[in-house]
Amino acid sequence: MNKQCHYMKTNGKQCGSYAVDNSFFCINHEPAMKEVKEIAVQKGGASEGYQKLNLDLSPLTIHKASDVTTATVQVMNEVRSGILPPKIATTLGYLLGIALKAFEVAELEEKMEVVDRLILERKTKR
Ligand SMILES: [Zn+2]
Repeated sequence: MNKQCHYMKTNGKQCGSYAVDNSFFCINHEPAMKEVKEIAVQKGGASEGYQKLNLDLSPLTIHKASDVTTATVQVMNEVRSGILPPKIATTLGYLLGIALKAFEVAELEEKMEVVDRLILERKTKR
């Protein structure tokens, strides 16, 4: 059967929670659990997802499709030399893929405009 937590609050009242098995305290006041909680908080705080990575990287400049190739090679070298975490490189690889696709679409659109103009010119000449 569960016993009441032995912890005494600052207002002098006893904690109302049930003590965990083999302890006089609830999960919040068990001294052994406090250490486990602190480790979990530290781990959470240090996880990559919440940490701002202060990486000293030169910016990627992408104005044309060939710049994507240059940027990809730059990212590859940064991963290989240990400057860039592989997880970040995976994201960059994905984004570079999108950039390359965008350049391909833009190039096709330009070609289509040229073709359209030529067709229109031929029609008006007759
Ligand atoms: Zn308690």
